[in-house]
Amino acid sequence: MALLKVLEYPNPILTKKASLVSKNELKSLRFVQDMIDTMYHEDGVGLAAPQVAISKRIIVVSPDAQRGKERIYINPEIVESSKEEEIAVEGCLSLPGISCEVRRAKKIKLRSWDLNGAELAEEFENFSARVVQHEIDHLNGILLIDRVDFNRRQALLGSYRRL
Ligand code: ZN
Repeated sequence: MALLKVLEYPNPILTKKASLVSKNELKSLRFVQDMIDTMYHEDGVGLAAPQVAISKRIIVVSPDAQRGKERIYINPEIVESSKEEEIAVEGCLSLPGISCEVRRAKKIKLRSWDLNGAELAEEFENFSARVVQHEIDHLNGILLIDRVDFNRRQALLGSYRRL
């Protein structure tokens, strides 16, 4: 088991759009197991590759926080989001000490590859949908603090810098 270092804001890799994984690169994704180990070690329910300094479109999620139940998505894309939204408090391993309410779609449809490049189509709702949306935000360089209004963002960053 190898643990990876989780980058923290304001590391610039976190605010960059990650690039697509090519079919050729699928052979060299052994670090995904390290991402999974790191996610559980940090008590996270999801981790995106840019958070471990790999700017590629790869996420791992485990909404039940149960080892063995993790899922890996390569080049994930949300193809449908419900109009119905929900607000809930989220945290992020890359913004230690910060939590804030974020509005997200209640249900999503996801298209992605698995580790072998096979196409996956899955649906998520409630907490699982939230986790997947949060991790896909990371692939687009979007953090929790980008999902709140300006005043709230300033307040959160003010407290973050004093940590
Ligand atoms: Zn996060």
